[in-house]
Amino acid sequence: MIRKERLLQTFLDLVQIDSPSGEEQKIAKEMIRRLEALGGSVERDAFGNIIAKFKGVGDPMMINAHLDTVEPGRGIKPVIHGDKITSDGRTILGGDPKAGVAAILEVLTSLKEEKHKHVPLEVVFTMSEEIGLKGAVNLDYSKLTAKKGITFDGDGGVGTVTTSAPGYNRVDVTIIGRGAHAGVEPEKGISAIKIGAEIISKLEIGRIDHETTANVGLIEGGSALNAVPERLHFMAEIRSRSLQKLEKHSLHFEEIFNAVMQKYQGAKIELKIVREFDPYLFKENHSVIQKIKNVLSQLGLKPKLELSGGGTDVNIFHTHGIEVVCVGVGDYGAHTTKEYALISEMIQTARFCEKIVKI
Ligand SMILES: [Zn+2]
Repeated sequence: MIRKERLLQTFLDLVQIDSPSGEEQKIAKEMIRRLEALGGSVERDAFGNIIAKFKGVGDPMMINAHLDTVEPGRGIKPVIHGDKITSDGRTILGGDPKAGVAAILEVLTSLKEEKHKHVPLEVVFTMSEEIGLKGAVNLDYSKLTAKKGITFDGDGGVGTVTTSAPGYNRVDVTIIGRGAHAGVEPEKGISAIKIGAEIISKLEIGRIDHETTANVGLIEGGSALNAVPERLHFMAEIRSRSLQKLEKHSLHFEEIFNAVMQKYQGAKIELKIVREFDPYLFKENHSVIQKIKNVLSQLGLKPKLELSGGGTDVNIFHTHGIEVVCVGVGDYGAHTTKEYALISEMIQTARFCEKIVKI
């Protein structure tokens, strides 16, 4: 049985272990200790991700959360106000991801205690999700057999189900003009900043349509006030839940780059457009979504299917052929000092997870 007091204690213990991205050693050690005590066969891949397998019957299922938190996330002091848990106001709470992690541990504890039959579980705790999905990107997929799974990481209650998220292209541009003294012989120079400004002014950015966005987010260039700038570097991103539109908008970027560069013979452009991850989209009648909806309604919860504009580990899992759905964990206002988790919703998350893996 899912027990409130035990789940709450696990949550309070976990958020008090500092785990900013890249500094997950302590929390990883604690997770390995707990997973082994629960009877899992636990290993770490070369990146440090934790994979714990629990024997069962039927098709294996991956159960995932990440372990790292954002800043300010050191010395977290959880405070309980009735059903609500906050930090003391100086830090985040760390309910993202630890409300999900605590729920998963509670389920494993309950399954063991009651000797419930369940499907084979592949519990995957990823590292460094918050700094570019690094754990999922570097996960050793050869250690996994599950073709479907659930990620416990979203905002809102467990009924909040993300059915689609955009693919992502990272655009890295360096423009190389020609340096010259700006006062003595500017005509000998080619301003990389002017070229970059012309390019950026022509790029279609912001919201492109209901499922496509683009942004120029970083720019740096020039060396001195009195020098015609030789170099300009900028970075942009393109996202779309449609792969076709992702490619089409990337092509639009390339066309602008080419058209402007043609005007500046003698200048050069170094361009990298890298697919960080593909989009994914579950149809509402997909068997995984149907199953989730059934379990939610058995628990008296209304499913809230959402289309996301951001990327998570789930995008990477899909790219590796594992159909994973992301659900909420009862956490709100993640990545801010106003973050809070609801105990009643954490319990619902655990009940949901238990129901979905039990046979
Ligand atoms: Zn998260």
